[in-house]
Amino acid sequence: MAEKRDYYEVLGVNKNATDEELKKAYRKLAKKYHPDANPNNRKEAEEKFKELNEAYETLSNPQKRKMYDQFGFNGPQGFGGQGGAGQGGYYSYSTNGFDGFDGFSGFGDINDIFGSIFGGFGSSRRKNRTGPVRGRDINHDIEITFEESFLGARKEFYINRNEKCSTCNGTGAKPGTSPITCPNCHGTGQVTQVQNTILGQMQTTRTCSECHGTGQIIKEPCTTCRGKGTVRKQAKVTINIPAGIAEGETLILRGEGEPGERGGEKGDMHLTVHVKRHSIFKRDGSNVLCDIPITMTQATLGAELEIPMVDGEKVKYKIPEGTQTGTKFNIRNKGFKALNGNWQGDYIFTVNVQTPKRLTKEQRDLFTQLAKTMNEQPPVKKRGLFG
Ligand SMILES: [Zn+2]
Ligand SMILES: [Zn+2]
Repeated sequence: MAEKRDYYEVLGVNKNATDEELKKAYRKLAKKYHPDANPNNRKEAEEKFKELNEAYETLSNPQKRKMYDQFGFNGPQGFGGQGGAGQGGYYSYSTNGFDGFDGFSGFGDINDIFGSIFGGFGSSRRKNRTGPVRGRDINHDIEITFEESFLGARKEFYINRNEKCSTCNGTGAKPGTSPITCPNCHGTGQVTQVQNTILGQMQTTRTCSECHGTGQIIKEPCTTCRGKGTVRKQAKVTINIPAGIAEGETLILRGEGEPGERGGEKGDMHLTVHVKRHSIFKRDGSNVLCDIPITMTQATLGAELEIPMVDGEKVKYKIPEGTQTGTKFNIRNKGFKALNGNWQGDYIFTVNVQTPKRLTKEQRDLFTQLAKTMNEQPPVKKRGLFG
């Protein structure tokens, strides 16, 4: 297969294109490459059309677009989301584009636009109920600790979602019975008609109204799912959260959504990550921020400090003599990992000079002597004006 082209390039727009611009570009190109409009060059047009739809499907979805901008086609390496169903990878578009892309059906948004371009022309596909239908996507939130966002984490949680009915194995028919072939469409799920359109005579195929496109009629519905083929269930989901994930970012867990219909693939789960606040660390972009208290003598004379890293390591760091309170120091590459794994932010700490509140007699004497050498007025008395 040819190397994948950048989605923005496919649509011929720049990276800051608005939704409106994307839509416009998509309409224009969809018209050009629609296979039915290229009867002499159908195969190539189909490829282009598919590429175009894939690009638009991603970029027109704000979450997918964000993911794509961040990760490109490939999600972070080495994190196969271990879903309950054993599906790998978070990103629905990460490797194969859209697996469920069956002809030109299955994407409501695209097909709505498609429909408005071609009118009745694409009707058989726009309202395609005969083919597999991808399951619904579901949204979920998860809370993780600051350390987990830094190091990555394997998390498990439970959600309620529709799952394939195990009694009837998703067929909707009572066990021991099976659905019968629809007599109206003879099991094809479709009824073919010839239509006159502005582009000439077109053969269109409509969904059979008797069986709603399944090609089968259920005489005795399964009692567990009442013929729906799905049941509401609590499911356990396991996921590897990649190191570097930030508050509010969303992971797409492929195949963790609701089951598809008629053999359609499962939907995805959009998992939004929330990071708990930490008592000493803060995050700024990919940098870790921390305030480090130091003593007056450390600030004055210089000192070797032990700085706590987020992963529990301690890093020795020498601050120079005469360090002022509020000075920032930078430890390179000890911040958050970029999700693509190529680089790491910094650890920036700010020193706060602590003024002693209680002194021993000896310390007080020393400070008093020190003060004299600095031509300062010594404190009036213990518990005096400045005490
Ligand atoms: Zn059932
Ligand atoms: Zn039928």
